[in-house]
Amino acid sequence: MQILVLNAGSSSLKVDLLDSQSGDRTATLRAQRLGTPQASYSLESPGQARQSTELPGADHAAVLQAVLPTLTKHPIQAVGHRVVHGGTDFSRPTKLDSSVLATIASLESLAPLHIPANLAGIHTAMALLPDLPHIAVFDTAFHSTLPRRARSYAIPQELGYRRYGFHGPSHQYVSKSAAAYLDEDPRDLRIITCHLGNGASVTAVEYGRSVETSMGHTPLEGLVMGTRCGDLDPGILLDMLRSGKTLDQVDDILNRGSGMAGLSGVGNDLRDIEDRAADGDEACRLAIQVLTHRLRKYIGAYAAVMGGVDAIVFTAGIGENSALVRHRVCQRLDFLGARFDEDKNRDAQVDRNTPVAEISRSNSRVRILVAKTDEARAIAGAVGKVAAGGEELAENPPIPIGISARHIHLTQEAVETLFGPGYTLTERAPLSQPGQFACNETLTVVGPKRSIEGVRVLGPIRPKCQVEVSRTDEFFLGIDAPVRASGDVANTPGVTLKGPAGTLTLKEGLICAWRHIHMTNADAERYGVKHGDIVDVTINSSGRDLTFGDVMIRVKDSYALEMHIDTDEANAAQISRGDVGALVSSGKGGTLLRRRTNFDPA
Ligand code: ADP
Repeated sequence: MQILVLNAGSSSLKVDLLDSQSGDRTATLRAQRLGTPQASYSLESPGQARQSTELPGADHAAVLQAVLPTLTKHPIQAVGHRVVHGGTDFSRPTKLDSSVLATIASLESLAPLHIPANLAGIHTAMALLPDLPHIAVFDTAFHSTLPRRARSYAIPQELGYRRYGFHGPSHQYVSKSAAAYLDEDPRDLRIITCHLGNGASVTAVEYGRSVETSMGHTPLEGLVMGTRCGDLDPGILLDMLRSGKTLDQVDDILNRGSGMAGLSGVGNDLRDIEDRAADGDEACRLAIQVLTHRLRKYIGAYAAVMGGVDAIVFTAGIGENSALVRHRVCQRLDFLGARFDEDKNRDAQVDRNTPVAEISRSNSRVRILVAKTDEARAIAGAVGKVAAGGEELAENPPIPIGISARHIHLTQEAVETLFGPGYTLTERAPLSQPGQFACNETLTVVGPKRSIEGVRVLGPIRPKCQVEVSRTDEFFLGIDAPVRASGDVANTPGVTLKGPAGTLTLKEGLICAWRHIHMTNADAERYGVKHGDIVDVTINSSGRDLTFGDVMIRVKDSYALEMHIDTDEANAAQISRGDVGALVSSGKGGTLLRRRTNFDPA
């Protein structure tokens, strides 16, 4: 599918016409200094000479109007727009309509330089190409999986500041390229992706999901950038304001006068800074030292955040091209198991045909890679999926967690024994799985040691009775019951149930439920699992992180996606409302082997 990808900056415009699957370019447009007398653009197509055109005073609309007749000679199926900020509203590519546009406009205060430019590009393109679907891809979306502790600042929460993270399409794209190069599933890897361009950020990608990233509420936090300061003691800001600098002056210093430009005093182009540093320029040497020291610090921190790291990836202008920066950053990372190869680093070259080069030694446990980023291709891929009618779904979407308290399933015969002849169960509240409900009825479960009163009956009636309790309940009752999948009650202990109209002693049916995930066939395809598979699920809880092994996959199209654990398991992970799990897939030869069960779960 041919996708026109627009990336509209405040005074620049990048347009790529490319195939959403192969990434092959039909045309590339670069416009700069828009809105000034020096506005110009260049247009390039394979096999044709690059045309450069001066268009004094031109804005986004004027450039698009000038080039669209050339671009639309090719068939275009959809237009993708890079939008820098999706706030908390957008966590996936979204088709643009008037309500989506209004929501994006309402986010302007979060990115005051970028959002108006993004919107100018969108409005122009929608007016000029009204019959095509226009789809927004958000820089922040990939980071919507950040756990609460990573996205929170230690200031009063009601102020409304949080970490959003940026460069999402690039971090996601290169983490996938790295996994493909390593011939692994991204869901088996912990990757640190270092996007080092004029803007720079580093992300911890744990099992396919962003769990930490260095840019924050705005793209000013984190690494040393071309002209941005990155991490800074907030006390400095207060001091600057107190000492009489205006807000605009402070903004200008931190966003446009800092970073490599501020440290080196020779501008933001690393090539110039490297040349001067080689000639002994102290300021340029310091600039490189600060840049690389800070990134090394982040790599150590992110390895700690993920409890280990399998690959470190360098990308974007500096990451792909500066052997010096990579060398400095990777010094002394041996303690992490990352052993750097000087020769491979000097020779590393990536391009569209060879998107990944390895710069670690053959005995390095952590693989160090250079990967070519291609944000337009990442956007085109996402847009292609949405335009084809499918929803663009996250790679490893979070799994909601349902906590099952102890409960009882009954046959109709048992209902009548316990509650009286002709009695039918009555619904108290629906459960998350369609058709299932909690009943008003409760029973006492009588064990040899003690009894538990008020155990809820769940409906509808079943062909076999089953009592599901936690291990703690088993100790309390004085019965040792096995961990079983629901329905698999053969050779399990019996138990006595006491109801208002009678008592029933079951010969079998007391189990501790096997933790499991309910999902549809479409979910199973998305996660790459099958009915009966056993997987690991890692929980980033608000308290005690835990990875659960032996989680059974149960697939049926009538199911709603949810992982079910019992109260003991939930307490062990200190799970609160809204906490989610992430699937850890099987590692080829790794420790996280997915097994098949003999039992076919109902
Ligand atoms: P952005 O897209 O954020 O504007 P890029 O990803 O194009 O930025 O990266 C720009 C940066 O890459 C510049 O600082 C530039 O100096 C640096 N860069 C490009 N090529 C080289 C090179 N060969 N050696 C060192 N730095 C390079």
